[in-house]
Amino acid sequence: MRVLVIVNPLAGRGKALRLLPNIKRWFSQSSHDFHYEITNTPEEMRSKIMTASAEGIEVILLSGGDGTVHHALPAIAETGLPLGFLPSGRGNDFARNMGLPVDLKRICSFFSKPSFRQVDLPNINQKTPFVAIAYVGFDSEVNRLANHHQGYWGGTLGYVICVLKALKHFKPFEIKITIDDYHWRGRVMMVSIANAPFYGGGMKIAPQAIMDDGKLDICIVKEIPKLELLWQFPKVFKGTHVTHPNIMMVSGKKIKLSSEEERELFADGEYAGKLPVECTIGHRTIRVLAPAGHDSKEGGNHETH
Ligand SMILES: [Mg+2]
Repeated sequence: MRVLVIVNPLAGRGKALRLLPNIKRWFSQSSHDFHYEITNTPEEMRSKIMTASAEGIEVILLSGGDGTVHHALPAIAETGLPLGFLPSGRGNDFARNMGLPVDLKRICSFFSKPSFRQVDLPNINQKTPFVAIAYVGFDSEVNRLANHHQGYWGGTLGYVICVLKALKHFKPFEIKITIDDYHWRGRVMMVSIANAPFYGGGMKIAPQAIMDDGKLDICIVKEIPKLELLWQFPKVFKGTHVTHPNIMMVSGKKIKLSSEEERELFADGEYAGKLPVECTIGHRTIRVLAPAGHDSKEGGNHETH
């Protein structure tokens, strides 16, 4: 099997790059044929994936963070190449959602008996694919601060600091939501459209989300006092927030969000445009390297119904 390892040198403040010698060493005895590229921009990475496909590469292995995966998705979807992932970013929610081990050497060992899991690839406005969660409101404001490194020290603690900063200026807003035939309008703190349970460095916003069930799970946090939001916030790490009377969980295949206010959507930790947006699922899937014997109907870290 011919594998192209793509390293994002910026991921995890250079962690992916520092790990490269180890990765090369772990693969040195492998029967597969490994090639390596270091790409500096999302465009360069996508272009390498497109070229790799034409040159007979059979698997893309990304070494980077959740943003690296997100930016690779358009080229992964277009080429149909399976995707492996060596998490070396700050949040590593993609690995968490896929049930990948923390130990990179173990992930590399999957190549001795490669197994691929097919997962849904939803998209925003028919063009931007995302693999985990798209969100607007308080969580997108936290993400915006995190991406600008305003007090972001990485991991869960970094997110908590950004939560406190975002809370200071945040105002609830009126939103119109259409989920297939269901319409809802009201004031919210945030709306998250999930194909997977985790985002934001381990926050289990949609505990019941399954990556291959052909539907999206929407978490609507209605307007609540800021102090109440702060009080409830720690529950999201266990996914126990869902029983709160002002939190609604709905699922569907086509979700439209619009607001009279200007609001930013983020997806997989990256800026993804302004409202109005439409998120759809069911048109495309990708294949992801998973532990051997991983049944496509079983989840990684999530509960099954
Ligand atoms: Mg799903």
